Amino acid sequence: MENVSRHKRIARVLVLLFIFALLSASIITDVIDIYQVMSVQRGVCVPIIMYHHVKNTGLGKDVISPYEFESDLIYLTENNYNTITMTDLINYVYYDVELPENPIILTFDDGLYNTYKNVFPLLKKYNKKIVMSIIGKSVDDFSRVNDKNVSYAHVSWDEIKEMVDSGLVEIQNHSYNLHKISNGRYGCYQKKNESFILYEEFLSRDLLTLQEKVKEVINFEPNTFTYPYGRYNENTDAIVRKLGFKATLSVKFGVNLITKDPEKLYDLKRICRSHNQSIEKMIKEGMETLKYIKE
Ligand SMILES: [Zn+2]
Repeated sequence: MENVSRHKRIARVLVLLFIFALLSASIITDVIDIYQVMSVQRGVCVPIIMYHHVKNTGLGKDVISPYEFESDLIYLTENNYNTITMTDLINYVYYDVELPENPIILTFDDGLYNTYKNVFPLLKKYNKKIVMSIIGKSVDDFSRVNDKNVSYAHVSWDEIKEMVDSGLVEIQNHSYNLHKISNGRYGCYQKKNESFILYEEFLSRDLLTLQEKVKEVINFEPNTFTYPYGRYNENTDAIVRKLGFKATLSVKFGVNLITKDPEKLYDLKRICRSHNQSIEKMIKEGMETLKYIKE
């Protein structure tokens, strides 16, 4: 009698083990499937953070303190994020150059002097990279005068050279002189009733002026255009592509899924880092937008 019940028990254990093995196998295949979808079809998840001013006064939407920026760098270091440049991202898409794990891009708009004064020393301290989109005319103007006001000054060509030489700062195009609202034009937006031909001539002349300047100073031709105020239409996009820009930065909120499709490099979403916000929370909220991305 005892023998029979022991056999039954062993049989039951064996059946349970068999079911367990089947379940584990199916879970593992599921995980592999998800991983493959993520890595092959869906690509790499790249948050792009948008910064403007880093200074101690006037804190708000576009102004954070140096202390807050340093806390971002500490967070990124502790959480194993790797800062990359736009060129790294473009090389990944076009030439299969591998990206580090957890890539992230820190963008600084407008080429402000406080980026040089307050951000650059921290980049050296934590060995982090940024992408700086400059306004050519402002750099020209502030290269001529010796005005180092942290509130409004822009960087000079000498400061740009120094930052680029460190290998921690990449320069991109934010227009030569279109970062303004004037003559019925908002940023680089096409004017009402302006023909495509005239608009193309106008926009090309401005953007190429900065391309040439940057090439002359640092021997690098920007490959990314950052729309002033995030304003553009389909003609702007067509012209920017025709000029050879491989990527554009918008001000739309979200995180990007980058595949080997070059199309994914246009109209990149960003996360605006404002005063009193946690970068951790902002990245998580940005990740939520990935749910709505269509294949
Ligand atoms: Zn700007």
